[in-house]
Amino acid sequence: MTLIYQSTRNAQNQVTASQAILHGLASDGGLFTPMNLPEVELNFNQLKDSSYQEVAKLVLSAFLDDFTESELDACIAKAYDSKFDTPKIAPLVKLGDQYNLELFHGSTIAFKDMALSILPHLLTTSAKKQGIDNKIVILTATSGDTGKAAMAGFADVPGTEIIVFYPKGGVSKIQELQMTTQKGSNTHVVAIEGNFDDAQTDVKRMFNDEELRQKLLDKKMQLSSANSMNIGRLVPQIVYYVYAYAQLIKAGDIQNGEKINVTVPTGNFGNILAAYYAKEIGVPIAKLICASNENKVLTDFFATKVYDKKRDFKVTSSPSMDILVSSNLERLIFHLLGNDAVKTKTLMDCLAEKGEYQLEPVRPEILDLFEAGFATEEETSAEIKRVYDMSAYIEDPHTAVASAVYHAYKKESGDETPVVIASTASPYKFPRVAVSAVGGQDVEDDFKAVEELHHLSGVAVPKAVDGLETAEVRHKTVVATADMQQAVEDYLGV
Ligand SMILES: *Cc1c(COP(=O)(O)O)cnc(C)c1O
Repeated sequence: MTLIYQSTRNAQNQVTASQAILHGLASDGGLFTPMNLPEVELNFNQLKDSSYQEVAKLVLSAFLDDFTESELDACIAKAYDSKFDTPKIAPLVKLGDQYNLELFHGSTIAFKDMALSILPHLLTTSAKKQGIDNKIVILTATSGDTGKAAMAGFADVPGTEIIVFYPKGGVSKIQELQMTTQKGSNTHVVAIEGNFDDAQTDVKRMFNDEELRQKLLDKKMQLSSANSMNIGRLVPQIVYYVYAYAQLIKAGDIQNGEKINVTVPTGNFGNILAAYYAKEIGVPIAKLICASNENKVLTDFFATKVYDKKRDFKVTSSPSMDILVSSNLERLIFHLLGNDAVKTKTLMDCLAEKGEYQLEPVRPEILDLFEAGFATEEETSAEIKRVYDMSAYIEDPHTAVASAVYHAYKKESGDETPVVIASTASPYKFPRVAVSAVGGQDVEDDFKAVEELHHLSGVAVPKAVDGLETAEVRHKTVVATADMQQAVEDYLGV
């Protein structure tokens, strides 16, 4: 049986997994979403001794069921190799009463590497399967981490071109340098005078621009997306929740079958949605705790069932979560509405036109799985300090948001269920925040902060940061939001 991926906005728009990956976004503006979840046999007594790659094979072959076994083997082997600085790929670290699932051991030291190291291979394999020989052009809006991780994945991959947009002033110095020094003749980086939502909105618009599509086709090119709207990003993220559960059993920290909670620092809702799918295929997860920073649109949504983006956008110390329109929530809404594309489209149109929508009372068996909370800048900084004082371990600000929200939840609810915290970035990506939280000093220079962080934590400086200070800046373009399409056409010569 082949799984059907359907657009969240049009019931007629149904495709297979490889078609969904190739197109990225549905042409009606919706997101391709699995209509039914596959049966996966999760035998944790066996899985506890499986490698990350073996768990990946199990999950990917269930969700991407029109790929052959050898196609998936090839993609997995190319993705999860020595680019990661540990053979465990996603190690689990016990810190007091929590388990941090470190998702930052890939080439760009953020969790986006977990999916973006495999997406280029899934995408080029999908194109081959569909008999497409157009050049695949990846357009990506980034709040800081996706852009670099996508370029690291796609750089010099034959038959692809990648253009990344990031908000000027909305990312850390290290994040910016990671992007602007990117090598590869097929990579392009553009800073925009706007915020992440501006960038993401215009990228989505370009995907649905019929005239642009035709212009590109005339030159044998087509667009695809490396954003977490692409199902090829989402599915590989399910893997590490299965793997984490198996590792907890292996370490003797839980019994097979015992429930765990999962807390996820959330922006575009991709990572936590993957955790939801992991639960649905049988990982014993009790609560999915959605953690936000001061851009707490999701906290308010879960409390009131009103999604309201009409509010000030805040630039925080956890920039990858500075998001007001959380794209992947649309997939959860679709499931909450009983996979009803008409109803989902009505809400999304309402969001676009009025800046808000109200969810009708729906499927509590799904909604009640979620808890939500937010951490202020002060709470985030205090949490970094608390964890450091307890265990000499330094969390990055995104992880600290999750860790702070979890402890507030635990205190309020008395819920003692063991918890896995998705640890989404290395503190070396945000060294000034970490150093200021732990030591109280404001280090002006990112690279001095890197040294200080090394001194404080004793953790080796990752390759991704070492040498960055002196690397050649190759990308210097800055444009107004209104000129994003022009930049794309210029790069592609259309
Ligand atoms: C992207 C990102 C997030 C948010 O993940 P979503 O899947 O968009 O919710 C959190 N932390 C870091 C470090 C990220 O890069």
